[in-house]
Amino acid sequence: MIPFPDITPGTVWLVGAGPGDPGLVTLLAHHALQRADVVIHDALVGDGVLEMIPENVERIAMGKRAGRTSPVQETISALMIEHAKAGKRVVRLKGGDPFVFARGAEEALALAEAGIAFRLVPGVTAGIGGLALAGIPLTSKEVPSVALATGHGPDGKLDPRLDVEGLGRSASMLVFYMAIETLPELIARLLKSGRDPETPAAIVSRAALADQQVLTAPLSALCAAAGATKLPTPALVVIGPNVALRGRLQP
Ligand code: SAH
Repeated sequence: MIPFPDITPGTVWLVGAGPGDPGLVTLLAHHALQRADVVIHDALVGDGVLEMIPENVERIAMGKRAGRTSPVQETISALMIEHAKAGKRVVRLKGGDPFVFARGAEEALALAEAGIAFRLVPGVTAGIGGLALAGIPLTSKEVPSVALATGHGPDGKLDPRLDVEGLGRSASMLVFYMAIETLPELIARLLKSGRDPETPAAIVSRAALADQQVLTAPLSALCAAAGATKLPTPALVVIGPNVALRGRLQP
């Protein structure tokens, strides 16, 4: 067995749960879950992963999902700090990778500021591993660059700092997290900036979960297709030549 470090009382481990399939939980994440006193998890963590947590471990759900009232970030950080100060072994479990559009950096900074010892445990992010599982590998010989971006900004609009046109022109493969609500604006801007309307595009819903669904369409038709089908969330938007490989690569 690999000699993993001990999770000591009074420390917090910020742990990635992967995109949903329990098989994509890292050995280090599994190790942490078996030794925690308390697990504070978000709404994205798959049920199969939650089942790995032993019965005697306290579980606190701190959900953050689009469209629902979510606990403010300070509350979550304060809760981690409180449990750590009480001498608990704390695991903060986040869907995918804690450091990909998940405020893991902010939570780690809050711990550092409070003088709490912590460890960062990355996970498989939905936008890379989840897409690969769905038959969409992000790179290939045809793809020299990939961009990961968020479609979530203030007031349900795209973040004003996001250079959609620049990304559209420069990155071969584009992956947008949290982009279902802003999809019409996103696609309109990509097309206007010169991205080929025939570019293969897809929405991957609930990747790495038993009820995963994938909708593919040329870029210019993706919005209409998404409106007609309304796939459940969480879902990713992926645009670029390797979406076309799915036909030959899906399991
Ligand atoms: N930290 C997470 C991302 C959190 S942001 C990660 O690394 O994967 C939340 C967004 O992630 C969702 O809106 C969706 O776009 C994406 N997402 C997370 N899990 C997903 C899944 N199983 N299938 C599809 N998209 C997912």
